Amino acid sequence: MSDCLNCKTVLSFKKILKSLWLGYQDIECSQCKTIHEHKFKNRIITSICMIPVLFIANLVMNYFPGELLFKSLVALIIAFIFSFFLSVLSIRFLKFKEVEK
Ligand SMILES: [Zn+2]
Repeated sequence: MSDCLNCKTVLSFKKILKSLWLGYQDIECSQCKTIHEHKFKNRIITSICMIPVLFIANLVMNYFPGELLFKSLVALIIAFIFSFFLSVLSIRFLKFKEVEK
């Protein structure tokens, strides 16, 4: 888990997850208010995590029986659940840098 680069307070899991889902928003330390931004590597890590999601969604679209609309819906729900879990897993690999004021 990532610590604040200034005071070493652990950056809250919820904050990082939220930042990730809102498109890599900056994260503020709850203790010293230092702003952290995502390193570029984080975008690569999360993109790699999304590859199995696309793969599974594609499998569902190809092999799941039923109407196209129903299949799309199932694929969408599965993709959403998987991307949520994968983003939770990827958080431990994320690195941040301090934003210069
Ligand atoms: Zn701090």
